[in-house]
Amino acid sequence: MVAEAFDRKATPVATPKERPEQYYGELVFDNRRMFEYLPKKAYEALIDAIENKLPISRELADVVADGMRRWAIDNGARHYTHWFAPLTGGTAEKHDAFIEHDGKGGVVEEFSGKLLVQQEPDASSFPNGGIRNTFEARGYSAWDISSPAFILGETLCIPTIFISYTGESLDYKTPLLRALNSVDKAATAVARYFDPEVKHVTSYLGWEQEYFLVDESLYSARPDLVMTGRTLMGHESAKNQQLEDHYFGAIPSRVEAFMLDLEIRCHRLGIPIKTRHNEVAPNQFEFAPIFEETNLANDHNLLLMSVMSETARRHNFRVLFHEKPFAGINGSGKHNNWSLGTDRGAMLFSPGRTPMDNLQFITFVVNVMAAVHRHNALLKASIMSATNAHRLGANEAPPAIISIFAGSQLSNILETLKTSKEADLSKIKTKSEYSLGLAQIPEILIDNTDRNRTSPFAFTGNRFEFRAVGSTANCASAMIVLNAAVAEQLADFHARVEARRAGGEELHQAIFAEVRQLIIEHDAIRFDGNGYSDEWKAEAARRGLDCETSAPVMFDAYLRPESIKMFDSTGVLSKVELEARNEVKWEMYTKKIQIEARVLGDLALNHILPVATRYQSTLVDNVVKLRQLLGDRADKISSGDLEAIEKIAGHSDVIRHTVAEMVAARKRANCIHDERSKAIAYHDTVVPAMETIRYHIDKLELLVDNEIWPLPKYRELLFIR
Ligand code: ADP
Ligand code: MG
Repeated sequence: MVAEAFDRKATPVATPKERPEQYYGELVFDNRRMFEYLPKKAYEALIDAIENKLPISRELADVVADGMRRWAIDNGARHYTHWFAPLTGGTAEKHDAFIEHDGKGGVVEEFSGKLLVQQEPDASSFPNGGIRNTFEARGYSAWDISSPAFILGETLCIPTIFISYTGESLDYKTPLLRALNSVDKAATAVARYFDPEVKHVTSYLGWEQEYFLVDESLYSARPDLVMTGRTLMGHESAKNQQLEDHYFGAIPSRVEAFMLDLEIRCHRLGIPIKTRHNEVAPNQFEFAPIFEETNLANDHNLLLMSVMSETARRHNFRVLFHEKPFAGINGSGKHNNWSLGTDRGAMLFSPGRTPMDNLQFITFVVNVMAAVHRHNALLKASIMSATNAHRLGANEAPPAIISIFAGSQLSNILETLKTSKEADLSKIKTKSEYSLGLAQIPEILIDNTDRNRTSPFAFTGNRFEFRAVGSTANCASAMIVLNAAVAEQLADFHARVEARRAGGEELHQAIFAEVRQLIIEHDAIRFDGNGYSDEWKAEAARRGLDCETSAPVMFDAYLRPESIKMFDSTGVLSKVELEARNEVKWEMYTKKIQIEARVLGDLALNHILPVATRYQSTLVDNVVKLRQLLGDRADKISSGDLEAIEKIAGHSDVIRHTVAEMVAARKRANCIHDERSKAIAYHDTVVPAMETIRYHIDKLELLVDNEIWPLPKYRELLFIR
């Protein structure tokens, strides 16, 4: 019976009779299941703790654990695990069976509150940036009651935070929860200026997950894809995305079957996947859910990524989350649509009907702009990684400079407010007012301009879209910085308004005066033009925006005094935590490049060069034989061959030498002890060598006999039929 129930859930096949309403969330211990499996009192106490962010007692934990176990077993689970997001960027789980000795030689299945609430995974091999030395290797994982438990396969997964013995965070969730608390507090204080009944402000996230699919058999024949998630070589295919025929195109049926399977699995897990479509590059696609509270949305994104990998394999695909799996075509991002809303139903980045609503709207939007301006270098650092470095600044993605696209509608409002003396907010029209007037058509066109992809951070009508986030990233990294920076800014704003009021100013005049001040002070962050242009790079530098392009140097932004102050005042991360996390960032950067460099060296020397030499010999053989046969007359007809021989020999020679240089550069870098300097050495000396090697291998691909080329080519990898 259990096996049957389990099978049905593990192998979701769309049956025409079952609608999402029937199976949505069936693998989640959500309110409905809690109500069913918990005594009424315990249920109420738990809901109260979740809603009001209260700790739960040991007795309550025992009751909840018991209900959770019964529910999990009814749904085929045999194991449980604390599920957390260590600084590696993925998720971690260690499964334990429910079984305990029954004292009679058999076993019973049990689960206690103690095991639910806290565990001590042997965490010495998770990155910790030196916070714990291996002698005190223990870390704690502790239940995050705000994110419901779920069943994956036959394992009950309990979302947890992961912290060191001494209380420092070793994961993404801990600082995310702290950042969400701080933005709740700061935004609530400001929102109360407009509605005194507000109790909480919630941060919302709607991510858009881009990815590539490749056929499993071709993937297996590419050691670079297997080892690094991207192709380290490969000449452009004659046709790729230039016809723009893939974006929103018809989805190949094999891919559609995968998508449907995935959607059903996601819906069972309570992940509200809503949108699916082809992306710009061949074989590139996107999934997006209905937005949710940020912590839950982030857990759902992490869960989606693991479910996607698994589901793809069932369909003989591999999913590539890498930001730039293929050179020359678009890379993948994970746009983070973000907003704030009150428990009274107001969305704080949506213009309203009344002047007061609009003052609230402008207040929050302008404070976000100020926060993004103050911490633009830090926000960039929050989305930077060895893999996203390939995407940012490349031609299809946002540049490596953070600016805000406001759109002409909002820009006009801001410009007007800058110069107007009065708080004339009735000028701010809502969309519906526009649609009634003659301005309708130009305004609709204006709205559409925000579809351009050149801005890393765009205002899109009722939310901000942080587009620079990479497709492999844990969204928490960006969400921690954004929410914390906005919390700091709102707290400052509140303090300044209060100071004005203490000086006798009327509330709304005080708010308006501060808003105007912010618009003027933070003008430099607004840029609606073409982010790809060289003029913008020069202009951004003039405006004092951070223009650093080296990933390991960007991470320095976390340790700037203003960042340390911001993280400290919001209680999100301590200096010790920041330093440790940066160690991890540099270490991860180095390791990623190190692995790529090894794989590339191996492929160059053992796969590509032998084949190039073989083909070169064939050509040489041909020329020699032609000469034997035709004497001097041969030179005339074999000049093409001679040219090819020279080219192959030339490229091969550069490859051989550059691989040797790259190995030497790695050895030199490996001797550096300081993680930051080591990462910079990898960036400055190893990466350029890799680029040179790739360039020459791609040239060889065009010269060498297709029959003997050892790797599947782009044209094979990129077109699923
Ligand atoms: P786009 O047209 O930008 O590609 P998509 O439909 O692909 O838009 O995705 C937009 C995402 O933004 C969805 O996840 C959606 O739920 C989310 N979203 C919409 N409104 C908000 C909001 N107010 N706050 C946060 N996310 C939002
Ligand atoms: Mg989209």
